[in-house]
Amino acid sequence: MANTKIPHATAKRLPIYYRYLHFLSDAGKQRVSSTELADAVKVDSATIRRDFSYFGALGKRGYGYDVENLLAFFRKTLKQDKLTNVALIGVGNLGHALLNYNFHQSNNVRISAAFDINEDITGTIQSGVPVYHMNDMKEQLTVQQIEIVILTVPAPVAQEVTNELVEVGVKGILNFTPLRITVPNTVRVQNVDLTNELQTLIYFLDKFGSHNEND
Ligand code: ATP
Repeated sequence: MANTKIPHATAKRLPIYYRYLHFLSDAGKQRVSSTELADAVKVDSATIRRDFSYFGALGKRGYGYDVENLLAFFRKTLKQDKLTNVALIGVGNLGHALLNYNFHQSNNVRISAAFDINEDITGTIQSGVPVYHMNDMKEQLTVQQIEIVILTVPAPVAQEVTNELVEVGVKGILNFTPLRITVPNTVRVQNVDLTNELQTLIYFLDKFGSHNEND
């Protein structure tokens, strides 16, 4: 099962399922049907059943899914059973916002170090997170065993900073810059382009009104 190839679209839905199962568990609910789940997370029940089938037969007909089993399973799959430290590179406006946000919805991911070149900010603590100079990046990432970074540097330097990250052995980059960075295939990149998302929303609203594409 560990080697099953999970489609990208399925993988992207796992945190949504996980969050809702957490909610159900907190509310003391013991089981949930795929139809209930579908209503709550706005994914159709056939898709949910197919997504879950990649992980083996987790549900029972007429019973639905056992919330705690499913939650334990997703926790493990999403590596939420251990704390993942990540670093943030570039403490500008967006970087500050992310430091301040620090992923409060999850107890298992946190930004534990930030890096910048601006000496007004290096050596300070911002929103509880120490800001180091880029010169200390390699040492800090190694000591703190950080393999994932959030990239919020200006676009013109995004590629050169990426090259440094690759060189020190970073495995995953959450790229908030509008630049499509180039990495070797040993490194995974997730792009989050907020301007792009907003423009897409404006485009769809203008073209199609408020109806969702997949409704
Ligand atoms: P944002 O784009 O997040 O709104 P901003 O407009 O406040 O930020 P930017 O000029 O985009 O500022 O820079 C973001 C941060 O990246 C700044 O704190 C800047 O000092 C830092 N930065 C610039 N170049 C580098 C670099 N080569 N390595 C690390 N950090 C850098």
